[in-house]
Order: sequence, then C-alpha cells, then structure tokens
Amino acid sequence: MSDSNPSIADRIVSIREELPPEVTLVAVSKTKPNASIQDAMEADQLDFGENRVQELQEKEAALPKSIRWHQIGHLQTNKVKAIVPFVHLIHAVDSERLLVEIDRRAKNHGRTVDALLQVHIAQEDMKFGWQAPDLTRFIEGNALAGLEHVRIRGLMGMATFTPDHQQVAREFKGLRLLYESLLDSNPSWDTLSMGMSGDWRIAIDEGSTMIRVGSSIFGGR
Ligand SMILES: *Cc1c(COP(=O)(O)O)cnc(C)c1O
Repeated sequence: MSDSNPSIADRIVSIREELPPEVTLVAVSKTKPNASIQDAMEADQLDFGENRVQELQEKEAALPKSIRWHQIGHLQTNKVKAIVPFVHLIHAVDSERLLVEIDRRAKNHGRTVDALLQVHIAQEDMKFGWQAPDLTRFIEGNALAGLEHVRIRGLMGMATFTPDHQQVAREFKGLRLLYESLLDSNPSWDTLSMGMSGDWRIAIDEGSTMIRVGSSIFGGR
C-alpha cells in the first residue's frame, strides 16, 4: 500500500495512533457503502456513526452484530422506535420530548439506551442542541430522575465550521467546562463527544473523549 493512497484501514490506524488511550474513535460511515465499513473493520474498528435512521437500519441488518452503532445526527421522535432495539449510543438528544420517547421505547424493549445531550456551541443557526443555560437548568431541575431506561453518558457538540482555530478551541473549551460543571451531580457521565475530520485534534486538546470522523477516513461525500 503506497503512502499516497492509504486504505481505509490505514487511515483509521494512523488516527488512532494520535489518540490518547481514553479517546474513542467513531468512524462516520454515512452515505458510504457496506464494503467501506467492512474495510474499516479490518483495522478492528467497531464503532460506526450514521445520521439517517433508514440508512442505519439497513446497514445494521446487513453487517456483523459486533458493530456498535452510533446515531450521531438529529433524531426525530417518530424514528426512535426503529433504532432503540440495537443502537449503542444516541449522540444528539436535544429535547426533553425526545428523551421521554427514548425512555418509553427502550422500556418496551427491556433495554436501557445510552444517550448524549447535544449542546449548541457554534455561532451558526442551523446546528441543533440545547443552549447551555437551558441545559443546566434542565438537569438541575431533576428532570432526568424519572427516566429509568435512558442513561445520559455526557454531552456532544459541533463547533463552528471555520478556519479560525482559536474560535473552535474556545467553543470546545466552553463545552468541556459545562461538562465538568455537571459531572459531580451526574455520576453516570463519562463521555464528551466533540471533534470531526476538520477539528478533532483541537477537540482532543480541549478534552474530548470521543471523536466522530467521516471524510478523513472514508473520503469526501
Ligand atoms: C457527518 C458528521 C460527522 C463527520 O463529519 P466529517 O467532517 O466527515 O468527519 C460528525 N458528526 C456529525 C454529527 C455528523 O453529522
């Protein structure tokens, strides 16, 4: 394999070599064929991220059950039912209504589903997520107490898409500080999902424990 054209497995290995041991790499396989996921599995990659429920369902049905599927994109309440039987982690929970629905569907399935709360950290309108003060109020208001079948594991965020590294670092740092401020009252938290192809190194420097990388592994979409 020449260095100028590394395989999918090679790219995964070289990203992993740069990661601190506590950081999980989620390979974002959205829009990519099953064969690309199988290529990634040659590097023992088992965490894969998708953002469309139908595509996630199709891939889950066709590929090995050892895969840990991450729903990373915005999730509509009426799609929760379809992924609750198998999903490993839901990254983008942005409303109480969605949490309640995950809890209800997970209970019907006899499962407890892991989820992250998405925080709006970018200076862009279209990105989903809680505003930090609303999230703090929500959590301190004990709203999670009755939800026994959804287990919050931490927070997720997406920085502004900008070449300004300082701005991206500031946004990630803000998310990490919010995460740390809530850790004491949330002993089940161990995951801070931040960083994508363009900014994962910055995210690691700012304390990410989980990066979601697509195009740097699988090529452009
Ligand atoms: C597509 C996507 C990614 C990966 O993006 P790349 O820039 O291709 O690495 C990460 N997180 C979310 C939520 C996404 O939708």
